[in-house]
This record gives sequence, C-alpha cells and structure tokens, in this order.
Amino acid sequence: MDIQKEKTNQFTNIKNIIAVMSGKGGVGKSSVTSLMGVTLKNKGYKVGILDADITGPSIPKIFGVNKKRAVGMGNEILPVETTTGIKIMSINLLVDQEDAPVVWRGPLVANMVKQFYTDVLWGDLDYLLIDLPPGTGDVPLTIMQSFEIDGIVIVSTPQDLAKLIVTKSMNMAKMMNVPILGVIENMSYFQCPECNKRHNVFGSSNIEDMIKAMDVSLIGRIPIDPELVGLCDEGKIELYEKINFAFGEEFGMQIE
Ligand code: ADP
Ligand code: MG
Repeated sequence: MDIQKEKTNQFTNIKNIIAVMSGKGGVGKSSVTSLMGVTLKNKGYKVGILDADITGPSIPKIFGVNKKRAVGMGNEILPVETTTGIKIMSINLLVDQEDAPVVWRGPLVANMVKQFYTDVLWGDLDYLLIDLPPGTGDVPLTIMQSFEIDGIVIVSTPQDLAKLIVTKSMNMAKMMNVPILGVIENMSYFQCPECNKRHNVFGSSNIEDMIKAMDVSLIGRIPIDPELVGLCDEGKIELYEKINFAFGEEFGMQIE
C-alpha cells in the first residue's frame, strides 16, 4: 500500500513525532501525554503537543491555557505557548466557547487533525507529541496513515478491560507499521503515605504478560497520585516534578 504522507509547512521542522494511544478513555492518556511533554521540556527539548482528541480535548486545560486563543497568520495558525514554552494546538483554542461540543462526523474531524499538522506554524521542534482520541477509530487511523510517526506510546491501566482493548491498539499500530516505543501503565498502584506500601487498587497487574505476548517494552509505571489530579485540574501540570520518562536516545531516536 503506497500512502501519500502529509507535508508540513515551510515554517515547521519536527524531528520526532510520537503519538500517544490508548484502548479506552479515562486511562490518563492526556495526563500522560502532558507529563511526557513536561519531562522532555525539562530535559531541554523543544516540545509541541497536538491535541487530536477533537471531541474530548483536554490538553489546554491541563496546561492552564484554555482561556487563550490561537491566532492566524496568513493561511496558517500559530500554536499557543504554555508558561514553560510548550507549543499547543487544540480545537479548544479555536472555538469561541471552550465548552461548545464538537458534533462533526469522523471524516471532518480527521481533516481538522490533519490541518493541525499541515497548517500550524510549529517552528523547530525536537518532539511533537500527539494526544490521540481513545480507541482505533478514524483519527488514529488517519494519523498513522498520513503523518510521519516515529513511534507510538501506549497508555494502559491494570484493569482487565483496558488491557483487552489495548491489545487491539497495539495490533493496529503493528498493522500500520508504526513502531511501538512501549507501554506506560498508569494508575498502576497507590503508595500509601501512612504504611508506605504499594497497594494495587485495580487488582494485580499482569502487564508483564501482555508486553511479553506483544513483544513490546514497559516504559514505566505511574502511581495513582492525587497531586497529579490537582495540578491537572488547576492547569499547573508544569509544576509536577515526580515523573521522569526514559526518552530519546533510549529508543534509538535521533534527536539532534
Ligand atoms: P484520558 O485522556 O485517557 O481520557 P485523562 O488524562 O483525562 O484520561 O485522565 C482521566 C482522569 O484520571 C483525570 O481526572 C485525571 O486527572 C485522572 N488521572 C490520570 N492519571 C492519574 C494518576 N496517575 N493518578 C490519579 N489520577 C489520574
Ligand atoms: Mg484525553
């Protein structure tokens, strides 16, 4: 199958594109995408986040830029910058009312997401992270087909249901020949502040079995953390200091 890849504009130069995928909603995909962005930014990389979850956009709120609006420049559009300089594009930054529902059908949504790639003046980026909508629908398919994706990160939780569906996402990535960088298990455990023990809130995880069966690696485990929820709700995720993902060289990706 010979697929025509989309081209970005002359003002955009992106070194690595990583899409973040999950089987279902609510597993923390947007939070994890944002944390990856913050981690990479803290390491000194130039980072952009493309919010491809058109019907459930949440990146602007997590970074506290949801009251800002992206402005046009000629036929193109400038992303909004966060406090630390992460560039963001999301449908929420374009609509008049942040809470207006987007009721478009699949192809229109997929087209919008394509424009977030082709018509946004991203400038020089080391990493563009894409927060995909959950599942294996139109948007993930379009993105995998038409963007130059370097790798996919899968977010899962210890719940069985999530794991079953997550296998579907991995199979889709494999079918589309996009490398899977690994799996992040979110809400993996709760570290009790009193007894200092790890509790498996969602039952015991058998992520090891899953990653072995799918021949992918485990990037990391993120605990259930009320502080993370608080910072996301307040739009202050850039202040979160606990997580450090192993990225870049570890995956054999060319960053420089
Ligand atoms: P998704 O994008 O997969 O739908 P979100 O990132 O929006 O998921 O997360 C769903 C909810 O779970 C949010 O309220 C978020 O704050 C919360 N959440 C995500 N990760 C964690 C975590 N590690 N600990 C506690 N709450 C979390
Ligand atoms: Mg989300």
